Amino acid sequence: MDCSICSSLPVILRPPRNTICVSCYDGAKCVINLINKLQNDRKPTNNNVSPVSPIGSSCKTLTNASKWIIDLKNREDELEDKINFLAQFTAAFRHQIHTDIQLNPGSPASPSISAHRALLATRSEIFKNILDSDGCKAAPTNSTITLPELSHEELESLMEFLYSGDLGEEKVKKHVYSLALAGDKYEIPYLQKFCERYMLKWLNCESALDVLEVAEVCSCRALKESALDFIVRNMEEIVFSSGFEAFALKNPHLSVQITRASLMDARKNRPNSSS
Ligand SMILES: [Zn+2]
Repeated sequence: MDCSICSSLPVILRPPRNTICVSCYDGAKCVINLINKLQNDRKPTNNNVSPVSPIGSSCKTLTNASKWIIDLKNREDELEDKINFLAQFTAAFRHQIHTDIQLNPGSPASPSISAHRALLATRSEIFKNILDSDGCKAAPTNSTITLPELSHEELESLMEFLYSGDLGEEKVKKHVYSLALAGDKYEIPYLQKFCERYMLKWLNCESALDVLEVAEVCSCRALKESALDFIVRNMEEIVFSSGFEAFALKNPHLSVQITRASLMDARKNRPNSSS
């Protein structure tokens, strides 16, 4: 096929044709659809200051594709500047500049962590309430909050996330369950969403029971359904794993739900599984 876009023949040797191969045609269609989708998705959230001007109402040709890509690239650069600007608060935490509250982990032997009341209050409604109620009684400089369920390391990771909105993958791997529970307890939806994404990404036979347990405690329906579905699909491996017995003793109601889901699944698949 002599495609006028991707043919390796030099232009001067090629007869002037208007043919286009299937790959180029599909690719062009995909780009146009993507641009239209992005354009439509962006409209409702347009209340913030986005200097990118939308290109026309609906994109029908590829004329604007490169402009769109440049716009997106510019937006990415701006967001990066913004993130760097906001990250200065993280530095204030790291270098302990003007901290005004102490956070204690569960174990009294572990050292406390200094933080900023204003940041805690903006990140979590629960912290805000604690600080509001304690503000009139205690002098701000020596007040403390104890997070009894967290170890020192977990508390450190929680603070790092609250300041920077992110956490290294290694730390997430290590503390994702305790952070998800903290996100639920202290009402930090962004942290919950963050942990949920990782739990889904790493869902496997080893983690499925833990994820199910956390999803149940945090009342996270979508995550619970995914974990339950995964367990049902890998029933044999999970039920005979070493952790299942302890899980079943600790979570009898979830064990019942696993059994029921598994039976429902078997019933659903039996009549159709003639293939
Ligand atoms: Zn082509």
